[in-house]
Amino acid sequence: QVVTRFAPSPTGYLHIGGARTALFSWAFAKHEGGKMLLRIEDTDRERSTEAAVIALIDGLKWLGLDWEGEPISQFARAARHAEVAHELVRMGHAYYCYCTPAELDQMREEARAAGRPPRYNGYWRDRNPAEAPKDVPPVIRIKAPLSGEIIVHDHVQGDVVFKTENLDDFIILRSDGTPTYMHAVVVDDHDMGVTHIIRGDDHLTNAARQIVIYNAMGWTVPEMAHIPLIHGPDGAKLSKRHGALGVEAYRQMGYLPAAVRNYLARLGWSHGDDEIFSTQQMVEWFSLEALNKGAARFDFVKLENINGHYIRESEPHYLYKVMVETAEEVGRADDAAGLKANSDTILAALPELQPRAKTVLELIDLAQFIYAQRPIKPDGAALALLTEESRQTLASIAEKLGGLADWSVPQIDDAMRKLAEAKGLKLGKLAQPLRAALTGRTVSPGIFEVMVLIGREETMARLGDQIG
Ligand code: GLU
Repeated sequence: QVVTRFAPSPTGYLHIGGARTALFSWAFAKHEGGKMLLRIEDTDRERSTEAAVIALIDGLKWLGLDWEGEPISQFARAARHAEVAHELVRMGHAYYCYCTPAELDQMREEARAAGRPPRYNGYWRDRNPAEAPKDVPPVIRIKAPLSGEIIVHDHVQGDVVFKTENLDDFIILRSDGTPTYMHAVVVDDHDMGVTHIIRGDDHLTNAARQIVIYNAMGWTVPEMAHIPLIHGPDGAKLSKRHGALGVEAYRQMGYLPAAVRNYLARLGWSHGDDEIFSTQQMVEWFSLEALNKGAARFDFVKLENINGHYIRESEPHYLYKVMVETAEEVGRADDAAGLKANSDTILAALPELQPRAKTVLELIDLAQFIYAQRPIKPDGAALALLTEESRQTLASIAEKLGGLADWSVPQIDDAMRKLAEAKGLKLGKLAQPLRAALTGRTVSPGIFEVMVLIGREETMARLGDQIG
């Protein structure tokens, strides 16, 4: 059975690159009928926080990525990491090193002076342990192979060859008994039965070192896929301005999880020229071979367009719920209250609003006319339409509407057309000031629909406010 894992370090939020790694690990596991595990790499006690763990889990849940079992704390497994390190010593594949910091400094200096890379020189590798000083707590170092190559057979990068002469006897257990990151990852992946490691290609050189540990223990090296990192639109490292944010920032900007999943899937993986596909399709189609070798470029415009698609396709009840949650989360209390107090009208209006919005925040803006308090405060563009002349037009509109027997779109439409004809005006000339007066904006759903949505009484009252 295929077992993947997502192994974030809880030092911040779930950033967009991590979310993509998780998505690929998840999709691959699902595709193979296997499972994804979640391991929290919290060994760095200074930088790991409980709040960050919660943010990671929230982010994954929001994205709809599930994992099997409880999240595994790497820190909680420290005793097991130490046990394996000692076992490696017993097997002769690792050794105690008693070098003091001063000695290590000197070693580096000498190497530098001799024009060699400043690395540990294997001083304690074959030394008699009887020579060990009593007062220096030792670290444990792995015996890296002295010659040959380590090859990472990578599903994305192909075979990547590392010369062992470039690997030193790195530390696997510190003198205080805590494992190094390199060692903990190997022991955990092995113990968790991980068959496939999917992660950023910034871990590719770590992979070579990790293979040294796998080989020393006689463990099977998992399949690996190191995916290129996400870059900004300019090809440079992804900056905050260009999208290097936590997934909660995307939620707060009004992106839907389905859209973010779809967009992230396209960022580094492809299925022909398909831009829009469901998560189910992604799972069906997913393969490691279709992961891209080149760096992906983050593009907000594409994400927005995809989001617009998902907003159009979403069920109004779902969108309504997301609108309320988003308004609350970003502190738009008035909007949250207005949305809640007018749920039926909002639901009825949504099919009109959906084609006009690319984000949930835009959707909320578009819905504001429904619960806006009188007198409506027109924005700049709307105010410009409310001239003295158009206020007179509004007065004749109010008069005409007052005589309507039935408050429906066809009736209003008919009355307005007749009025336009009588005045020798285009219908648009009536609709523009009407929209400004009723919604305070220059963009809204069809203005007759707006009138039906807010109702006769409110329409007449808002017109009255403008006519004076
Ligand atoms: N904790 C590492 C990170 O957040 C990932 C380690 C791994 O996937 O092996 O970059």
